[in-house]
Amino acid sequence: MNQQKALLEDSKNYLWLPFTQMTDYERDPLIIESGEGIKLKDIDGKEYLDGYSSLWLNVHGHRKKEIDDAIKKQLDAISHSTLLGAANVPAIQLAKKLEQITPKNLKRTFYSDSGAESVEIAIKMAYQYWQNKGFKKKTKFVTLSNGYHGDTVGAISVGAVDLYHRVYGSLMFESIKAPFPLVYRSGKKNPDAIRDHALAELREIFQSRHEEIAGITMESIIQGAGGMNIMPKGYLKGVELLCKEYDILLIIDEVATGFGRTGKMFAVEHEDVQPDLMTIAKGITGGYLPVAATMTTEEIYDAFHGEYEEMKTFFHGHSYTGNQLGCAAALANLEIYEKENLIEQVQKKIAIVKEGLDELKDLEYVGDIRQLGLMCGIELVRDNITNEPFPWKERVGYRSTLKMRELGMLTRPLGDIIVFMPPLASTEEELKQMISIMKQAIEETC
Ligand code: PLP
Repeated sequence: MNQQKALLEDSKNYLWLPFTQMTDYERDPLIIESGEGIKLKDIDGKEYLDGYSSLWLNVHGHRKKEIDDAIKKQLDAISHSTLLGAANVPAIQLAKKLEQITPKNLKRTFYSDSGAESVEIAIKMAYQYWQNKGFKKKTKFVTLSNGYHGDTVGAISVGAVDLYHRVYGSLMFESIKAPFPLVYRSGKKNPDAIRDHALAELREIFQSRHEEIAGITMESIIQGAGGMNIMPKGYLKGVELLCKEYDILLIIDEVATGFGRTGKMFAVEHEDVQPDLMTIAKGITGGYLPVAATMTTEEIYDAFHGEYEEMKTFFHGHSYTGNQLGCAAALANLEIYEKENLIEQVQKKIAIVKEGLDELKDLEYVGDIRQLGLMCGIELVRDNITNEPFPWKERVGYRSTLKMRELGMLTRPLGDIIVFMPPLASTEEELKQMISIMKQAIEETC
């Protein structure tokens, strides 16, 4: 047996892949061996454009020299020592840097290893903040329909993507569901009216239950895994004002939207919103290593100060929290944003993508195209006049992305929504190439 075949067999015999029906994998296996720029190469030497930024996190492409070098340099000092009770050098430097680039009220960084964990931390922190301040009844969380915050038990409890969550229903704690101001398929044309209606419903919930609500957990300007749904202008700002009015903590999840993905460093900047807690992950290391963080205000931090026996300590921390290699990678990543003036550079690419996607709008099976910066969703439908979806079991989205793979581009769908989320470093030519692959795949699959 040659080496590639042996690897294929071993992958089927020993691995269990996340969020993957293994029957699909066994039918169409793929093993990535290397990457360079925005291209990934499999064990047979076939190249793929990274159309989903290796699951929404790669920024500068793979093998970015500055990040490679920073990790190597850090290896020569130390790979890891615990952050429990002892700080480390890159963790301090990164926390200082994060304070400078996030909304100005956010000062403290609490590290973790994944987006889901950063959300777990945010909800535990919000809950305990109110407990420490003596508001013992404030224990509930409001969450928006179709929200996604990760797959751990706490994160799914404040999430609402039915497809992912219904299996684990009885494990979850209950949160209060508020409607997301969904424009597509709402039957209403006016986004302002949709926004006002959703805000009015949220106000009603806050008004009647604020004494028991600790916080609201929501994504920033665009929902990712829930379907690439963009909030009508002014909705997020409206939620911020309601939170202030009713003394409810605003927990913003920037795991997917952070680090330039939407055309601003953080999506909250689109509406000048200052959350009480903000979760970040994915792009923080440029897509290199698992680092995440929950940022918060000095006021929340202060509520955890006291003598040990007062039990105000924040009881959370994992073995690898604040890992030095990860923090060094993140620092190098953030330096590149400055050196390359990345947020400004990316504006041109956003315009190129918009122009390219506009050409897909008229395809027979494209119902809607939603784009915020370089976060895009192309919704495939059976009928683009009535927006009737394809039957779920036909798996049109999945089959389209398999076709894209064949044509040299990787992405993962959300049901029948094709996710297009290229690395910020993609060139004009690469962006156009990926859009053309998506077009061909949609035409040939639907
Ligand atoms: N929050 C949001 C908004 C996400 O999109 C995701 C993942 O896609 C998560 C949280 C979970 O992040 P992770 O996969 O790093 O746990």
